[in-house]
Amino acid sequence: MRQDLSGTGAARGSALGRARVRLPHALEVEERQIAAGEVEAEVARFHAAVAAVRTEMHQLRERLHGALAHEVGEFLDLHALLLDDPDLLRGIDDLIRTGRYSADYALRLQRDRLAGVFAGMDDAYLRSRIDDIDQVIGRLHAALHQRSADLQGIAGEILVTDAVAPAELAQLHAQGVLGVVTAGGSALSHSAILARSLHLPLVVGAPQALQRINDGDVLVIDGGSGLVVVEPDADDLRAHRARVNEAKRERRQLNRLRREPSRTLDGFDVRLWANAESRQDVAEAHALGAAGVGLYRTEFLFMHSRELPDEDTQFRAYRDLVLGMTGRTVTVRTLDLGADKADQTGLALRDEPNPALGLRGVRLSLARAGLLHTQLRAIVRASGYGPVRVLVPMVSGVEEMRAVRAALAQVQQELRAEGHAIAEQVPLGAMIEVPAAALALPAFIGLCDFLSIGTNDLVQYVLAADRTNEALGELYSPLHPAVLRLLREVVRLAARHAKPVAVCGEIGGDPLFTPLLLALGLTELSLHPATLLEVRRAIRGCDRGRLLAAAPALLRARERRAIERWLARHAPAAA
Ligand code: PEP
Ligand code: MG
Repeated sequence: MRQDLSGTGAARGSALGRARVRLPHALEVEERQIAAGEVEAEVARFHAAVAAVRTEMHQLRERLHGALAHEVGEFLDLHALLLDDPDLLRGIDDLIRTGRYSADYALRLQRDRLAGVFAGMDDAYLRSRIDDIDQVIGRLHAALHQRSADLQGIAGEILVTDAVAPAELAQLHAQGVLGVVTAGGSALSHSAILARSLHLPLVVGAPQALQRINDGDVLVIDGGSGLVVVEPDADDLRAHRARVNEAKRERRQLNRLRREPSRTLDGFDVRLWANAESRQDVAEAHALGAAGVGLYRTEFLFMHSRELPDEDTQFRAYRDLVLGMTGRTVTVRTLDLGADKADQTGLALRDEPNPALGLRGVRLSLARAGLLHTQLRAIVRASGYGPVRVLVPMVSGVEEMRAVRAALAQVQQELRAEGHAIAEQVPLGAMIEVPAAALALPAFIGLCDFLSIGTNDLVQYVLAADRTNEALGELYSPLHPAVLRLLREVVRLAARHAKPVAVCGEIGGDPLFTPLLLALGLTELSLHPATLLEVRRAIRGCDRGRLLAAAPALLRARERRAIERWLARHAPAAA
């Protein structure tokens, strides 16, 4: 019989298919002890499972492209680190050897032990990391039984589950899942961001889903409104078809904008740069007419290998990026390791008590002898092949910019003396993502050739709201009057000093925010190519003069809801 449930729409798109219900899996394992003579074989069986999971994750990593490589890579890296964690592994070996438990039961005991430790942690972020451990343990468990942790035959079905991790979402997408409904979760999670860039319909926060949906039920889900219909009737099917047709029409319309300028109704050209990390991103950015690469996150080069990439390895990566953009400017950001971006080289500190406030970004680059120097040499050498800019992450004050500027000048001098054909100018810019940098900008704007506002971090630091903590829900929001005021000040100061400024955080790629960013005076955005056409369309539906005139009302708003109402009043005209 027809019934409907409501959740939160987290990734637009309508899907019709049979439900595959996955109930929350506690590890259902019987206590089993083994004979003394079986112990070593059991330890070996466990280690074979670890090796199999390592290979499986490595292969998944290799298969990821574009936005996926970025979003999911971080999680896979984290899971790979967990898999290599000597405490986790030794604990299980000990349980098999001393307790004579089967590997499965030892795994279960170790999981419960860790869950206890994590549950007692004060830090909500760390508490939530038990999910990552569960993911890894689930894979190990599957490998012990030589079956895949992946859901088999999910192609053409809609997954209904309690939660979905980004790495798993990527896999599901590759397997052909039509859509996902989760009982928990938030539209701000990394899974939701990922689902949006994959165009995979996702409804989150539908708490009744697991009780009311049965395996094999036919579902229609609308990732826009959050509606989930079980056993849809003729009207539901018609509504689904209408949404699908509308989405197709929209895609066709967007594709017509591939060669159009990003020009407002009153004739102002907004510069759209690309956030690009892979060859596919670069090719797409080029094809869509991006002004250049506005953000290339070099940490991914470091996160994938166990050794520090040397100057030549880095140089080749940067050079290929520059060549791929055929004369359009490429902005290479120096290393931003640390916090949620751990590496495998041991460069970034582990176990920092407060990693988001720790030794990350430029702090790490300046603290480790030779790191910045090698990286700047590689970037500047690439400037011989096309225009390159250097962007510095996590700047908090003048001293850091002074140090990087001096290092850049030294590198340029050295490379010239060595006979390298490098560019005359390599502009240097600062990321504005630490509130202190925004507030103290007058002190160091003279040292910057350009600025890029990292709203992902700026929002988290202004609001003291962890960007990775789903439990914070709406607390992590760019629509806070304090954030808007800070943005406005940075844009104003940059204009006064005639320095170009872009926004390169996620909000730059969300067309919902386009009128707001234009109203605040932004004229440059850097965003993932996946949403470039949508943002271009929004720009083409905006009257910049009108938005600038409406900025005072926006800045007077005292609360989020008022800002949301402003956004509703200034939504772009259909373009
Ligand atoms: C940001 O903080 O907005 C940003 C673009 O950098 P990242 O997401 O890499 O921290
Ligand atoms: Mg950042």
